[in-house]
Amino acid sequence: MFPYELKVVELPLSTNFRGLSVREIALFEGPAGWSEFSPFIEYDSKESSIWLKAALESAINPAPKKIRDGIEVNATLPNIKVKEVKNLLSKFPGCKTVKIKINSFSSDKELLVEVLNHIPDAKFRLDVNGQWNLEEAIINLNGYENEFGSKIDYVEQPCLNVDDLAQLRKKTGLKIAVDESIRKHLNQDLSKIKEVADIAVIKWAPSGGISAALALIEKIDLPVVISSALESSIGISHGLSLAQSAPNLYGACGLGTASLFNSDVTRNPLTIINGEIKNKKVVPDLIDKLKAKPDRQIWWQNRINQIYQEGLI
Ligand SMILES: [Mg+2]
Repeated sequence: MFPYELKVVELPLSTNFRGLSVREIALFEGPAGWSEFSPFIEYDSKESSIWLKAALESAINPAPKKIRDGIEVNATLPNIKVKEVKNLLSKFPGCKTVKIKINSFSSDKELLVEVLNHIPDAKFRLDVNGQWNLEEAIINLNGYENEFGSKIDYVEQPCLNVDDLAQLRKKTGLKIAVDESIRKHLNQDLSKIKEVADIAVIKWAPSGGISAALALIEKIDLPVVISSALESSIGISHGLSLAQSAPNLYGACGLGTASLFNSDVTRNPLTIINGEIKNKKVVPDLIDKLKAKPDRQIWWQNRINQIYQEGLI
Protein backbone atom coordinates (compact mmCIF):
# COMPACT_ATOMS: atom_id res chain seq x y z
CA MET A 1 0.00 0.00 0.00
CA PHE A 2 1.03 3.57 -0.63
CA PRO A 3 2.58 4.69 2.65
CA TYR A 4 2.41 8.48 2.40
CA GLU A 5 -0.24 11.07 3.08
CA LEU A 6 -1.49 12.55 -0.16
CA LYS A 7 -2.21 16.26 -0.58
CA VAL A 8 -4.15 17.15 -3.72
CA VAL A 9 -3.97 20.74 -4.93
CA GLU A 10 -5.42 22.70 -7.85
CA LEU A 11 -3.11 25.13 -9.58
CA PRO A 12 -4.78 27.78 -11.76
CA LEU A 13 -3.07 28.36 -15.12
CA SER A 14 -2.56 31.85 -16.50
CA THR A 15 -3.47 30.60 -19.98
CA ASN A 16 -5.19 27.50 -21.31
CA PHE A 17 -2.68 24.66 -21.77
CA ARG A 18 -3.57 21.23 -23.17
CA GLY A 19 -7.19 22.40 -22.82
CA LEU A 20 -6.69 22.89 -19.07
CA SER A 21 -7.33 26.02 -17.03
CA VAL A 22 -6.55 24.28 -13.73
CA ARG A 23 -3.90 21.63 -13.15
CA GLU A 24 -4.60 19.06 -10.45
CA ILE A 25 -1.59 17.46 -8.81
CA ALA A 26 -0.97 15.22 -5.80
CA LEU A 27 1.91 15.89 -3.42
CA PHE A 28 3.46 13.81 -0.68
CA GLU A 29 6.51 13.88 1.54
CA GLY A 30 8.97 11.01 1.83
CA PRO A 31 12.29 10.61 3.65
CA ALA A 32 14.17 12.51 0.90
CA GLY A 33 11.65 15.37 0.69
CA TRP A 34 8.51 16.37 -1.16
CA SER A 35 7.47 14.73 -4.38
CA GLU A 36 4.75 15.09 -6.99
CA PHE A 37 2.43 12.60 -8.67
CA SER A 38 0.62 14.35 -11.51
CA PRO A 39 -0.27 12.22 -14.53
CA PHE A 40 -2.97 13.96 -16.57
CA ILE A 41 -6.50 12.96 -15.53
CA GLU A 42 -7.22 10.86 -18.62
CA TYR A 43 -4.15 8.60 -18.25
CA ASP A 44 -4.91 4.98 -17.34
CA SER A 45 -3.38 3.05 -14.43
CA LYS A 46 -0.58 1.59 -16.49
CA GLU A 47 0.66 4.93 -17.80
CA SER A 48 0.11 6.61 -14.42
CA SER A 49 2.09 3.90 -12.64
CA ILE A 50 5.24 5.09 -14.44
CA TRP A 51 4.67 8.58 -13.00
CA LEU A 52 4.14 7.07 -9.55
CA LYS A 53 7.47 5.24 -9.78
CA ALA A 54 9.13 8.57 -10.55
CA ALA A 55 7.35 10.30 -7.67
CA LEU A 56 8.29 7.55 -5.20
CA GLU A 57 11.93 7.47 -6.23
CA SER A 58 12.36 11.20 -5.67
CA ALA A 59 10.51 11.04 -2.33
CA ILE A 60 12.73 8.23 -1.10
CA ASN A 61 16.17 8.71 -2.70
CA PRO A 62 18.31 11.82 -2.76
CA ALA A 63 19.07 13.27 -6.21
CA PRO A 64 22.11 11.82 -8.02
CA LYS A 65 25.45 13.60 -8.27
CA LYS A 66 25.17 16.75 -10.32
CA ILE A 67 27.58 17.65 -13.08
CA ARG A 68 26.25 21.17 -13.59
CA ASP A 69 24.53 23.81 -11.50
CA GLY A 70 22.15 26.37 -13.05
CA ILE A 71 19.95 25.09 -15.89
CA GLU A 72 19.16 27.27 -18.90
CA VAL A 73 15.45 27.04 -19.78
CA ASN A 74 13.28 27.87 -22.75
CA ALA A 75 10.11 29.93 -22.72
CA THR A 76 7.03 27.78 -23.38
CA LEU A 77 4.12 29.23 -25.30
CA PRO A 78 0.90 27.27 -25.76
CA ASN A 79 -0.98 27.86 -29.02
CA ILE A 80 -2.08 31.34 -27.97
CA LYS A 81 -3.28 34.43 -29.80
CA VAL A 82 -0.69 36.85 -31.15
CA LYS A 83 -1.82 39.57 -28.74
CA GLU A 84 -1.08 37.30 -25.75
CA VAL A 85 2.54 36.65 -26.75
CA LYS A 86 4.11 39.70 -25.10
CA ASN A 87 2.54 39.09 -21.70
CA LEU A 88 3.41 35.40 -21.67
CA LEU A 89 7.01 36.00 -22.75
CA SER A 90 7.39 38.35 -19.78
CA LYS A 91 6.97 35.31 -17.49
CA PHE A 92 10.21 33.86 -18.90
CA PRO A 93 12.76 36.63 -18.25
CA GLY A 94 16.01 36.31 -20.20
CA CYS A 95 14.95 33.21 -22.17
CA LYS A 96 16.26 33.31 -25.74
CA THR A 97 14.89 29.94 -26.79
CA VAL A 98 11.14 29.88 -27.26
CA LYS A 99 9.12 26.70 -27.61
CA ILE A 100 5.74 27.12 -29.28
CA LYS A 101 2.93 24.63 -29.73
CA ILE A 102 1.94 24.90 -33.37
CA ASN A 103 -0.74 23.55 -35.67
CA SER A 104 0.43 24.67 -39.10
CA PHE A 105 2.71 27.13 -40.87
CA SER A 106 -0.09 29.34 -42.15
CA SER A 107 -1.97 29.55 -38.84
CA ASP A 108 1.02 30.05 -36.57
CA LYS A 109 3.84 31.84 -38.40
CA GLU A 110 2.57 35.16 -36.99
CA LEU A 111 3.32 33.87 -33.48
CA LEU A 112 6.99 33.56 -34.43
CA VAL A 113 7.01 37.01 -36.01
CA GLU A 114 5.53 38.46 -32.82
CA VAL A 115 8.12 36.71 -30.64
CA LEU A 116 10.87 38.24 -32.80
CA ASN A 117 9.36 41.69 -32.19
CA HIS A 118 10.18 41.21 -28.50
CA ILE A 119 13.24 38.92 -28.68
CA PRO A 120 15.01 39.67 -31.98
CA ASP A 121 17.62 36.93 -31.48
CA ALA A 122 15.10 34.25 -30.43
CA LYS A 123 15.54 30.62 -31.45
CA PHE A 124 12.41 28.56 -31.91
CA ARG A 125 11.40 25.08 -30.97
CA LEU A 126 8.19 24.12 -32.73
CA ASP A 127 6.22 21.41 -30.95
CA VAL A 128 3.73 19.63 -33.20
CA ASN A 129 2.82 16.77 -30.81
CA GLY A 130 2.77 14.35 -33.75
CA GLN A 131 -0.23 15.97 -35.44
CA TRP A 132 1.03 15.91 -39.06
CA ASN A 133 1.17 13.15 -41.61
CA LEU A 134 4.28 13.05 -43.79
CA GLU A 135 2.86 15.23 -46.54
CA GLU A 136 1.63 17.92 -44.13
CA ALA A 137 4.96 17.86 -42.31
CA ILE A 138 6.92 18.44 -45.52
CA ILE A 139 4.71 21.37 -46.57
CA ASN A 140 4.66 23.03 -43.14
CA LEU A 141 8.35 22.57 -42.42
CA ASN A 142 9.29 23.93 -45.86
CA GLY A 143 7.29 27.01 -44.95
CA TYR A 144 9.04 27.49 -41.62
CA GLU A 145 12.47 26.71 -43.06
CA ASN A 146 12.09 29.18 -45.92
CA GLU A 147 10.78 31.98 -43.75
CA PHE A 148 12.75 31.53 -40.52
CA GLY A 149 15.76 29.36 -41.55
CA SER A 150 18.39 29.11 -38.84
CA LYS A 151 16.10 30.76 -36.29
CA ILE A 152 14.41 27.36 -35.95
CA ASP A 153 16.33 25.39 -33.35
CA TYR A 154 14.35 22.20 -33.97
CA VAL A 155 10.92 20.77 -34.64
CA GLU A 156 9.54 18.49 -31.94
CA GLN A 157 7.62 15.38 -32.99
CA PRO A 158 6.29 16.61 -36.37
CA CYS A 159 4.86 13.12 -37.09
CA LEU A 160 4.07 10.26 -34.72
CA ASN A 161 5.05 7.49 -37.11
CA VAL A 162 8.75 6.65 -36.98
CA ASP A 163 8.90 5.70 -40.68
CA ASP A 164 7.41 9.11 -41.52
CA LEU A 165 10.10 10.78 -39.43
CA ALA A 166 12.77 8.85 -41.32
CA GLN A 167 11.33 10.06 -44.65
CA LEU A 168 10.86 13.61 -43.40
CA ARG A 169 14.47 13.83 -42.31
CA LYS A 170 15.53 13.48 -45.94
CA LYS A 171 13.24 16.34 -46.99
CA THR A 172 14.00 19.04 -44.44
CA GLY A 173 17.08 20.87 -43.29
CA LEU A 174 15.53 21.41 -39.85
CA LYS A 175 16.59 19.33 -36.89
CA ILE A 176 14.02 16.90 -35.53
CA ALA A 177 13.44 16.18 -31.85
CA VAL A 178 11.35 13.31 -30.54
CA ASP A 179 9.17 13.31 -27.44
CA GLU A 180 6.09 11.05 -27.82
CA SER A 181 8.20 8.54 -29.82
CA ILE A 182 10.11 7.96 -26.60
CA ARG A 183 7.66 8.33 -23.74
CA LYS A 184 4.81 6.38 -25.33
CA HIS A 185 7.17 3.53 -26.34
CA LEU A 186 9.33 2.95 -23.28
CA ASN A 187 9.16 -0.83 -23.67
CA GLN A 188 10.42 -0.84 -27.23
CA ASP A 189 13.97 -0.82 -28.57
CA LEU A 190 14.78 2.89 -28.44
CA SER A 191 18.40 2.50 -29.55
CA LYS A 192 17.21 2.99 -33.14
CA ILE A 193 15.61 6.36 -32.44
CA LYS A 194 18.82 8.18 -33.34
CA GLU A 195 18.33 7.06 -36.94
CA VAL A 196 15.23 9.27 -37.20
CA ALA A 197 15.95 12.17 -34.83
CA ASP A 198 18.65 14.62 -33.78
CA ILE A 199 17.52 15.36 -30.24
CA ALA A 200 15.68 13.41 -27.54
CA VAL A 201 13.21 15.18 -25.27
CA ILE A 202 13.15 13.44 -21.90
CA LYS A 203 10.75 14.08 -19.04
CA TRP A 204 11.29 13.06 -15.45
CA ALA A 205 7.85 11.66 -14.57
CA PRO A 206 6.81 9.92 -17.83
CA SER A 207 10.24 8.20 -17.94
CA GLY A 208 9.65 6.61 -14.53
CA GLY A 209 12.03 8.79 -12.54
CA ILE A 210 15.57 10.10 -12.56
CA SER A 211 17.45 6.79 -12.65
CA ALA A 212 15.14 5.33 -15.31
CA ALA A 213 15.56 8.52 -17.35
CA LEU A 214 19.35 8.40 -17.08
CA ALA A 215 19.31 4.77 -18.26
CA LEU A 216 17.04 5.80 -21.15
CA ILE A 217 19.37 8.65 -22.10
CA GLU A 218 22.29 6.25 -22.22
CA LYS A 219 20.37 3.83 -24.41
CA ILE A 220 19.09 6.49 -26.83
CA ASP A 221 22.53 8.06 -27.18
CA LEU A 222 21.35 11.44 -28.54
CA PRO A 223 21.77 14.97 -27.17
CA VAL A 224 18.92 15.50 -24.71
CA VAL A 225 16.57 18.25 -23.64
CA ILE A 226 14.99 17.67 -20.25
CA SER A 227 11.44 18.92 -20.28
CA SER A 228 8.46 19.05 -17.94
CA ALA A 229 4.89 17.86 -18.02
CA LEU A 230 3.36 21.00 -16.53
CA GLU A 231 4.42 20.22 -12.99
CA SER A 232 4.50 22.44 -9.91
CA SER A 233 7.86 23.65 -8.59
CA ILE A 234 8.16 20.33 -6.77
CA GLY A 235 8.06 18.20 -9.93
CA ILE A 236 10.19 20.80 -11.68
CA SER A 237 12.86 20.52 -8.98
CA HIS A 238 13.15 16.78 -9.75
CA GLY A 239 13.31 17.55 -13.48
CA LEU A 240 16.11 20.00 -12.70
CA SER A 241 17.94 17.32 -10.71
CA LEU A 242 17.74 15.12 -13.79
CA ALA A 243 19.03 17.94 -16.00
CA GLN A 244 21.84 18.60 -13.52
CA SER A 245 23.02 15.00 -13.73
CA ALA A 246 22.34 14.17 -17.40
CA PRO A 247 25.32 13.87 -19.72
CA ASN A 248 25.04 15.27 -23.25
CA LEU A 249 22.56 18.06 -22.57
CA TYR A 250 21.66 19.71 -25.89
CA GLY A 251 20.80 23.21 -24.66
CA ALA A 252 18.05 25.03 -22.85
CA CYS A 253 15.60 22.73 -21.05
CA GLY A 254 11.80 22.89 -21.00
CA LEU A 255 11.68 23.37 -17.24
CA GLY A 256 10.33 26.91 -17.01
CA THR A 257 6.68 25.87 -17.14
CA ALA A 258 5.86 26.65 -13.49
CA SER A 259 5.70 30.23 -14.83
CA LEU A 260 2.43 29.25 -16.54
CA PHE A 261 0.68 28.89 -13.17
CA ASN A 262 -1.00 31.82 -11.46
CA SER A 263 -0.25 30.16 -8.14
CA ASP A 264 2.45 27.63 -7.39
CA VAL A 265 2.59 25.35 -4.33
CA THR A 266 5.10 27.51 -2.52
CA ARG A 267 5.84 31.12 -1.62
CA ASN A 268 9.39 30.44 -2.84
CA PRO A 269 8.94 28.91 -6.29
CA LEU A 270 11.78 28.07 -8.63
CA THR A 271 12.19 31.27 -10.57
CA ILE A 272 13.80 32.06 -13.88
CA ILE A 273 16.61 34.60 -13.62
CA ASN A 274 18.45 35.60 -16.82
CA GLY A 275 16.99 32.59 -18.62
CA GLU A 276 18.24 30.16 -16.00
CA ILE A 277 16.85 28.31 -12.97
CA LYS A 278 18.86 27.39 -9.92
CA ASN A 279 17.54 24.24 -8.31
CA LYS A 280 16.63 24.01 -4.65
CA LYS A 281 14.53 21.86 -2.34
CA VAL A 282 10.94 23.00 -2.58
CA VAL A 283 8.63 22.92 0.44
CA PRO A 284 4.95 23.38 -0.41
CA ASP A 285 3.81 25.98 2.13
CA LEU A 286 0.66 26.91 0.18
CA ILE A 287 -1.09 23.54 0.21
CA ASP A 288 -3.95 24.76 2.40
CA LYS A 289 -4.65 27.68 0.10
CA LEU A 290 -4.76 25.51 -3.05
CA LYS A 291 -6.35 22.36 -1.60
CA ALA A 292 -8.68 20.48 -3.95
CA LYS A 293 -12.20 19.48 -2.89
CA PRO A 294 -12.53 16.29 -0.77
CA ASP A 295 -13.98 14.25 -3.67
CA ARG A 296 -10.86 15.02 -5.73
CA GLN A 297 -8.64 14.01 -2.83
CA ILE A 298 -10.48 10.65 -2.78
CA TRP A 299 -10.23 10.31 -6.58
CA TRP A 300 -6.43 10.65 -6.50
CA GLN A 301 -6.10 8.32 -3.54
CA ASN A 302 -8.19 5.74 -5.44
CA ARG A 303 -6.07 6.25 -8.52
CA ILE A 304 -2.98 5.28 -6.54
CA ASN A 305 -4.77 2.37 -4.84
CA GLN A 306 -5.78 1.07 -8.27
CA ILE A 307 -2.14 1.09 -9.42
CA TYR A 308 -1.18 -1.02 -6.41
CA GLN A 309 -4.18 -3.34 -6.85
CA GLU A 310 -3.25 -3.99 -10.47
CA GLY A 311 0.27 -4.88 -9.33
CA LEU A 312 1.80 -2.14 -11.44
CA ILE A 313 4.08 -1.00 -8.64
MG1 LIG B 1 6.33 17.70 -26.82
